[in-house]
Amino acid sequence: MADVFADLVGQDEAVVTLRRAAASAAALLRVESTPGVTVEPDGPEAAGGPGAGMTHAWIFTGPPGSGRSVAARAFAAALQCGHGTGCGACPGCHTTMAGTHADVRLVVPEGLSIPVKEMRALVLRAASTPSGGRWQVVIIEDADRLGERAGNALLKAIEEPSPRTVFLLCAPSTHPDDISVTIRSRCRIVPLRQPSAEAVAEVLVHRDGIAPDVAGWAAAAAQGHVGRARRLARDPEARQRRDAVLAVPRRLTGVGAAFDAAAALIEAAEAEAAASVAELDEAERAALQTALGAGGTGRGAAAAMRGAAGQLKDLEKRQKSRATRAQRDALDRALVDLAGFYRDALTSALRAPVAPVHTDTAALAEAGGQRWSAEGALRRLEAVLECRVAIEANVKPRIAVEAMMLALWKG
Ligand SMILES: [Zn+2]
Repeated sequence: MADVFADLVGQDEAVVTLRRAAASAAALLRVESTPGVTVEPDGPEAAGGPGAGMTHAWIFTGPPGSGRSVAARAFAAALQCGHGTGCGACPGCHTTMAGTHADVRLVVPEGLSIPVKEMRALVLRAASTPSGGRWQVVIIEDADRLGERAGNALLKAIEEPSPRTVFLLCAPSTHPDDISVTIRSRCRIVPLRQPSAEAVAEVLVHRDGIAPDVAGWAAAAAQGHVGRARRLARDPEARQRRDAVLAVPRRLTGVGAAFDAAAALIEAAEAEAAASVAELDEAERAALQTALGAGGTGRGAAAAMRGAAGQLKDLEKRQKSRATRAQRDALDRALVDLAGFYRDALTSALRAPVAPVHTDTAALAEAGGQRWSAEGALRRLEAVLECRVAIEANVKPRIAVEAMMLALWKG
């Protein structure tokens, strides 16, 4: 039986840190259940020497796809593990990995930020005694999307933690834009690296049963993003969308074509996002209507309907925020693919001895590299990266993408 850390691809150092901390946490629980003995959570007596101990707040950092939330969930499982190791087989491990453990809460912000109301409620619940007798664990995915007020609510909880509460934050980096300096200063950092294409391919072959040649291609094309590689290997629609993005450089034959390409890219991102949220939106709407007694005829139903308008409006607002986020994520994936193409053109122009990101368009990228020279390829690569930065900084996607397409065409 694989233990809970088996899904962390190419993260040996982080796994060592987390195993030690889990052992230390288990030792703490044992000591606490022995009357008359106290132990400092970070003290060397906790287990494994100084720095190896348990602490109440952690930040998992790394590029998208490196497995930040996978690492956080595995660590949560190890904390709830009956053996204190993350064995992968006991009920504690099992329920945590399945997302049903009563003392593990996962926060996935659906919009572009985490509402302060949600954060306060969460902090309050996290302070309660763990029902399973081990730890209350709160995992916050995309903690970089915490607004200032939500961040402050969290900071208070981290500054004065309940003895059995553990916060696991996931963020791209510990840059102040991602995580406030005050929160960061109270957390232990677990840096994750971008796994190599070989490591990703190996996982696809051995864990997902994907054919080695497909796995190799998908792992390279996904640029170290395990989830993306898996999707590319399995989902023909994901492959089609990628093909369409990689056809962009060939299509840029003039100003009109550049605007057409921009419109097509935006529309494809919108369509992909709409498909990804449609089912969830509908289920939520149906659930709310049932809760509000829609279709009922009694006096209670009529009373419920009077408050319903506000709740429906709230739900629509939340769904709109989620759709915007899904669109941005889809667009960003497309831009990363496009950046990979120009990166291939650049490395080819420089005759750098590295494998191409997109093996299936390597010949095209090479031709581009010859035509544009290294400088031209670099300018184009920078245009794509600038577009990502602009969208991240809230420039309207259509405007940012049009500017990028024009830059790619002009060189
Ligand atoms: Zn276990």
